[in-house]
Amino acid sequence: MRFVFVFLLPLLLLTACQTKEETSKSVELYNTTGDMVGTAKLLEGPDGVQVQLKLEGLTPGFHGLHVHEYAKCEGPDFKSAGNHLDPEGKEHGLMHPMGPHLGDMPNLEADAGGLVDADLMIPGATLKEGKMSLLRGEGTALIVTETQDDGVSQPSGNSGARIVCGEIKSGKGNEATESPTDPTEFNKKQEE
Ligand code: ZN
Repeated sequence: MRFVFVFLLPLLLLTACQTKEETSKSVELYNTTGDMVGTAKLLEGPDGVQVQLKLEGLTPGFHGLHVHEYAKCEGPDFKSAGNHLDPEGKEHGLMHPMGPHLGDMPNLEADAGGLVDADLMIPGATLKEGKMSLLRGEGTALIVTETQDDGVSQPSGNSGARIVCGEIKSGKGNEATESPTDPTEFNKKQEE
């Protein structure tokens, strides 16, 4: 009995660490008809979260990009993701004197072929626990809009319909791109 307990304890501690210390997250992005059109890689940094975004199939030109408050991408309007992520009760817009929302980001520019390859920052955000976490609750969502965000209009910069959505989810079910887990750990658990 004592052997089992001693053996279990380090396993439990290891599991706790892994869920709290996420430093990167991969997000799959889908259009309104459910086709995957890109990916976003989120990386924890000292001043915020870095977003490396790759997208295809957009109309050439500028598009808004925001983090929304719920990890629910239900097409075709993606309204299920809620409003822009705003844990501090600010106004919308990177150029608004009372802004911005935590989830407000610079516009994306799709090239003539409809491709986006962008590297952005969300200052003050984190993937760790806390008020400014992108993984708070069940997570948040990354959404691209039809037109560009004007940076000041409420509530969302007059940026048009939501056309691409990706769920930023914490914990289980979204760890394929995390550091590989040791398969023997799982087996040991099963045996107990
Ligand atoms: Zn906003």
